[in-house]
Amino acid sequence: MANYILSGIMGLVVGDALGVPVEFQDRETLRRSPVKDMRGYGTYNQPPGTWSDDSSMTLALLDSLKKGLDYEDMMDKFLAWYEEGAYTPHGEMFDIGIATSQALRRYKEGANALETGGQDEYDNGNGSLMRILPILFYLQKEYEFNFLDYDEAFEIIHNISSLTHRHKRSQIGCGIYISIAHYLILEKNLEEGIRKGTKKAFSFYRSKTGFKEELEPYSRLEDPYFKDLSEDDIKSGGYVVDSLEASFWCLLNSQSYEEAVLKAVNLGKDTDTTGAICGGLAGIFYGYDNIPETWLNKIVKRDWIEDLCKEG
Ligand SMILES: [Mg+2]
Repeated sequence: MANYILSGIMGLVVGDALGVPVEFQDRETLRRSPVKDMRGYGTYNQPPGTWSDDSSMTLALLDSLKKGLDYEDMMDKFLAWYEEGAYTPHGEMFDIGIATSQALRRYKEGANALETGGQDEYDNGNGSLMRILPILFYLQKEYEFNFLDYDEAFEIIHNISSLTHRHKRSQIGCGIYISIAHYLILEKNLEEGIRKGTKKAFSFYRSKTGFKEELEPYSRLEDPYFKDLSEDDIKSGGYVVDSLEASFWCLLNSQSYEEAVLKAVNLGKDTDTTGAICGGLAGIFYGYDNIPETWLNKIVKRDWIEDLCKEG
């Protein structure tokens, strides 16, 4: 049986690492000099194969879930990353989003884990979406393959978002992403998986007061011609809605893992996070064996990450 944890997590880590050296570069610059391979240095002056906060927080969550659902433990592990360099490639954290650092500070000051995430409209960066993937594997195990039929499953996804991003728009972004990731496992056809995963999540949110009002920003995902939008209509900054759209759009317009993540990274701006969000899904859909071995070989602490995936 395919190990979707390994494919998803390594897909995400590789996408992150491809984007790290060019984070913040704009699309025009990357059009002139597109990323085609695992580069090094650049924005953070890190060697090739260095992954960032997206992967670190994903791995911290994956590790925490091995002991069950414990929100305080998740925050403790995020804090260990932030303060002690746990779950980092070189023993030191080198990037963090504003909302996440604020949440960690509030947690350290004694706030309850589920009340640390910002809940204002401007708190809707992609910082919870980029690390949400491991909850998919937990929910599949706990609730079996129809977990999306349970309100509690969505509640758990929302709670995990809320650790750093508590606004309903961020929670919905995570819900749609997990629903699609799940359907990419169930469906062997990429377009069908994305369509059914979107439909499932939207029908859940439409039935819930408080959430249905927040669905509007995501409405383009339901457009049957979403795939055909031009690249100029796809944004790749740090806004959760843009990151989700960009990752699906890249998947829908690619034929392989490699093509999808390179497309995501070369959109520019938040390159590592778009690469990570898209890479997680591309890894799940195309499988670990279709992630280029030359890229996997460059990933710092590859064996350690893969062990973490296998123990899950
Ligand atoms: Mg990052």
